[in-house]
Parts: sequence; C-alpha cells; structure tokens
Amino acid sequence: MPNSDRRHLPAVHRLVSDPGLSEAVAALPAAIVTSHVRQALADARAAAAGGGSVPDTASLVASVRQALDPLLTVRLRQVINATGIVLNTNLGRAPLPRAAVDALVTAASGYSNLEYDLATGERGSRHDHLAPLITALTGAEAALVVNNNAAAVLLVASAFASGREIIVSRGQLIEIGGSFRLPDVIAMSGARLVEVGTTNKTYASDYVRALTPETGLLMRSHTSNYRIAGFTADVSPAALALIGREHGIPTCEDLGSGQLLDLTGYGLPHEPTVGESLSAGLDLVTFSGDKLLGGPQAGIIAGRRSAIDPLRRHPLLRALRPDKLTLAALASTLTLYLSPDVITTVPTVRMLTLSADVLAETATHLAALLCETVGDRATITVQAATSQAGGGSWPGTELPTTIVAIAPVTLSVTKLAKRLRAGRLPVIGRIQSDQLWLDPRTLMAGDVAALPALVAEALG
Ligand SMILES: *Cc1c(COP(=O)(O)O)cnc(C)c1O
Repeated sequence: MPNSDRRHLPAVHRLVSDPGLSEAVAALPAAIVTSHVRQALADARAAAAGGGSVPDTASLVASVRQALDPLLTVRLRQVINATGIVLNTNLGRAPLPRAAVDALVTAASGYSNLEYDLATGERGSRHDHLAPLITALTGAEAALVVNNNAAAVLLVASAFASGREIIVSRGQLIEIGGSFRLPDVIAMSGARLVEVGTTNKTYASDYVRALTPETGLLMRSHTSNYRIAGFTADVSPAALALIGREHGIPTCEDLGSGQLLDLTGYGLPHEPTVGESLSAGLDLVTFSGDKLLGGPQAGIIAGRRSAIDPLRRHPLLRALRPDKLTLAALASTLTLYLSPDVITTVPTVRMLTLSADVLAETATHLAALLCETVGDRATITVQAATSQAGGGSWPGTELPTTIVAIAPVTLSVTKLAKRLRAGRLPVIGRIQSDQLWLDPRTLMAGDVAALPALVAEALG
C-alpha cells in the first residue's frame, strides 16, 4: 500500500489511550490490550495492502473491543428460568437445595477430610463418604460416585466388557441431549456393542441367542427422552437379571434420571426408581445426580458389592472421580431425602409436585404485579397451560400449570424475548400463540419480585 495510506493508521499508543478502550485498559494487563491493538493494526494494514480501504479509528477501537469482550464479560450468568421445564439441561439442570449450597461453600472454603481417615489418622478414600447414604436410600449393597452418568456408563462398560461384548436391545440405543450416544460411549470403553431385537420388540430369547464366550455385560437403558408406543415388547429388569444370573453375566441398567422417590401420589406418572431396578435383581444401576434427584452434576453407580469393587479398582476411576464440591453438595442433597420434608427442601422435587392451586395463585399474583408495572405497554393475562419435567424424564407428560402471558403492544414478541434475554438478569420464557409465557413452576424465591421491573425494562 502507498505510504500516504499507512500514515492514516494511528500509532499503537494512541489507539491504546482511546477513551473507547479505557474500560479494557483499566481491567486487563497492558500487554494483552497492546497485543490486540497491534493485531488490529496489522489486520488493517493487510486489508489495505489487498486493496481495501483503511479503517477509521472508531472501527479499529470497535474491533479491539470485540476481541477483548470474552475477557471482560462474565460468561456463566444467573438467569430466571420461566420456561416451566424443571430439568432444563441448557439452563443448568437442577438448582441445588439451600443446604447443599451451604455444604458446598463450606467444603470450598477450607480443608476437609476428603481423603483422610479422622479415626486412624491415615489416608482415607473420597469414595467412602457417600456410599452409606446411597445404600440406605436405594437398598443397594454398595455405591460409587463419578462425574456424571455418562462417566458411570463408561466406567461400567470398561470394567466389565473392554475387549469383549455388551448386549443391548435395539430399542434402547439412546441419544440424550445430542452428545450422550450409548453406542459411542460403549465404543469408547473398548467394548463391542451387540444389538439384539428390533426397534419396537426385543424378547428374552434375543439376548440368550446373542450370548457368546465373549459376552461381558448385559445392559438395559431407560428410554428416558422418548417412548416406543404401539406394538412393543421389551425385556423387564427382572427378566434381564434372570438371564444374567443363569449365564453368569453381569447386568446393569442406565436409568438416566435416577428417581429415588415414587411421586405417583402427586399425580405424576410412574417412573422407575433406583430401588425398583435394584430389587429386580440387576447387578448395577447408573443415574445422574442433577436430574430428578435434584443435586449437583454427578453419576451414581449403585448395586452389588461384587460388581462395585472392580469399578473402585479400575484405573479409569481416577479420571472420572468427583471433586470435593460435588461430594459435599451431593451428600447434603441425599441427606435431605432421609426426611419427608424432601418434597419442599429439594427444589426439583418441590417444582415437580407443586399443586395446581399454588401455581394458579402465583400466576395471578405475578400477573397483578406485571399489570401495575408495565401499564399499557403490554396485555397481561393468565391462562391454563402445561409444563414439562424435562431432563429426559416423563417424555410426553404434561404437568398442569397456569402461565402468565405477555402480549406486547408495539414490540414483536420475538423482540421482547430477545430483550429479556439481554437484560441485567436474563429471563428465559416460552413463545407461544404470539405471546411470551412465564410459567411460575420453575421460578425460584425472589423471581416473582424481580420480574416486573425486568419485563418493564425489556418493553422499553
Ligand atoms: C441423562 C442421561 C444420560 C446422561 O447423563 P449425564 O449425567 O448427563 O452424563 C445417560 N443415559 C440416560 C438414560 C439419561 O437419561
């Protein structure tokens, strides 16, 4: 590029001291800001050399700010979940019980006996702390906690069938949330997947016929985010356990959501509990800590001692082991299950069992507050609707609720939703029938009080 053009580019120090970068200069080390300024100037020079025009100072500053933005904004932010989907994987699944948050803060703030035996003064195991709680709540003989349920399945498959075969029904080759694909996890364990039956029907004889000297594990998985309806046949946990016992092959079930309580008394459909799968005779059951259980992200493996012991000795366990914060929060959440108050103390259980009356009352109250605050900028109504459990539980089940519907007068509803997401405390609702819906089922303490101002700000 001709020299005259190059002269139009500002010097590095002039760009660094531009008021548009003062926030970045105050918050970040000088070397980081300077290197991005140099990069922006180099890009501008290269573009001009290629025949492009020389950018002005404002656009140079803008490009530096854009490059520095990821360092200046907090990425993981609190949001208000007004979707009514209780276990929303995109929104972080289960909000922790108050007691679990306190336990987590305590564990994080100082030292603990994570791997120290206070009785003997010798080395202990992090895997010993939770087993008594899990066995008491599920009826299992032994238990082990890892990072998530995907890790639990990987560990079980590796320990029992690496280099060997795992038999799974074709109707149960699940994909959850786009990245947990049972066939892929099995492949990563070094085991070979042997599919039996058809998509809609699998019989006990299909498993028996597929048995070979190479069979290491018989696995069931809970089809937690879909249902096969119509002409179907599947092999029950008890029937699979029987085949395993008769042929001396370990059996396990990937239960996914991992419900500890039977909530049918609250009008919810039956969902297999961990205790039911274990009492059917399966050797191992794996499930998530942050789905229906309502705790932190974790994978729990419960079952026979003879099946848990090899997992505890497996070298992969070191890579999959949970940290002290997870263990503290999970222990505290599980402790809440020892009391009947669990219905109110564990947020996910409380949200799932909220009565229609309470939901209607909250919706009416929120609607009144919104009417006062937004005036004539939107029409606010309450309507009967349904919410979902989410997180791969009760697929297709609709939980009756009452929602607050916002119909903006001048703004489009997508624009309102976008502005609510961009607010100081992002609000995530549902767009339906050209309205923005707020479902009280998933609101946390304080959300009702915070919402009117946030909605008013978004309406402008
Ligand atoms: C959710 C789910 C998983 C994955 O569990 P993560 O804890 O997210 O790793 C695996 N299997 C089933 C059946 C599930 O529902």
